[in-house]
Amino acid sequence: AIPLVVAINTTIAAKNGIIIRDRIASEKARDIDIVVFDKTGTLTKGEQTVMEIETTKQITDKEALKIMGSVESDSEHMISQAIRKAAKEKQIDLTDVKDFQALKGKGVYAVYKNTETYVGGRNLLNELEIEPNPQIKSFSEKMGEKGRTVVYLIQNQKTIAAAALADKIREESKDTVEALKIMDKDIAILTGDSKDVAQSVANELGITKIYSEVLPEDKDKKIQELQKQGNSVAMVGDGVNDAPALTRADVGIAIGSGTDIAIESADIILVENNPYDVIRILKLSKKSYRKMQ
Ligand code: ADP
Ligand code: MG
Repeated sequence: AIPLVVAINTTIAAKNGIIIRDRIASEKARDIDIVVFDKTGTLTKGEQTVMEIETTKQITDKEALKIMGSVESDSEHMISQAIRKAAKEKQIDLTDVKDFQALKGKGVYAVYKNTETYVGGRNLLNELEIEPNPQIKSFSEKMGEKGRTVVYLIQNQKTIAAAALADKIREESKDTVEALKIMDKDIAILTGDSKDVAQSVANELGITKIYSEVLPEDKDKKIQELQKQGNSVAMVGDGVNDAPALTRADVGIAIGSGTDIAIESADIILVENNPYDVIRILKLSKKSYRKMQ
């Protein structure tokens, strides 16, 4: 028999700002059991702003920003851009650093004026086996409750300062989650950010499955695990760190403003950066199926 190609009508999809890169994968959209969302840049806008700096007695706010900005100089991460912008606004001159290294999903490393220096989040503390100084810890807890991402400045195995960054939840994220619930789909959040920030965003949106502090290579493993439990999985993401998970998922969906590698790894691209287009994809795929029957 001639196999029926039961795919989404790509022309209709394109009119809605949805680009189908893989028609076969897009067919699977109607059978999805769970939709997994990356947090930063997917459910949120990913436009980070430094809101507050906390320092220990050793340094001032300005010094902390100078060190963090300098160490972040060679990073393209949104957090790094936000820190450099904050330094610039305070007219702080950044200094050249040596031996820069990007620690994917964790932070950055460089030698700042002969001192080995790290800037990064909870994942980095976990790896370096460092507990934050009590004052920094309480700052971090307070900020985490507000959904703010905290990055730590570390020298000599100590957290000497921290910066809290705010991001905005995309307006359409809440409706997206609600619509998925009505369609009886499971929903999860999968992020490299800390537990409290993930929890705060999840609470706001009504998501109960939370996978936080997940390293880039483990995002892919998480998708595999969900598939082994018998789920057909859609993954929505924007970052370099989401690329393997987007490839692994039964349906990989990239945010249009995302990184090139995320877009290349996805089956479907959301040109308008609108998470609600996930609902349109599920509906379109159901519709085209009915038509073929
Ligand atoms: P997500 O999974 O939320 O999209 P990433 O994997 O890009 O996030 O980053 C995870 C975490 O790693 C961030 O929340 C941050 O704590 C830390 N991080 C990553 N890159 C940097 C950087 N350049 N500077 C500081 N922290 C960083
Ligand atoms: Mg992201």
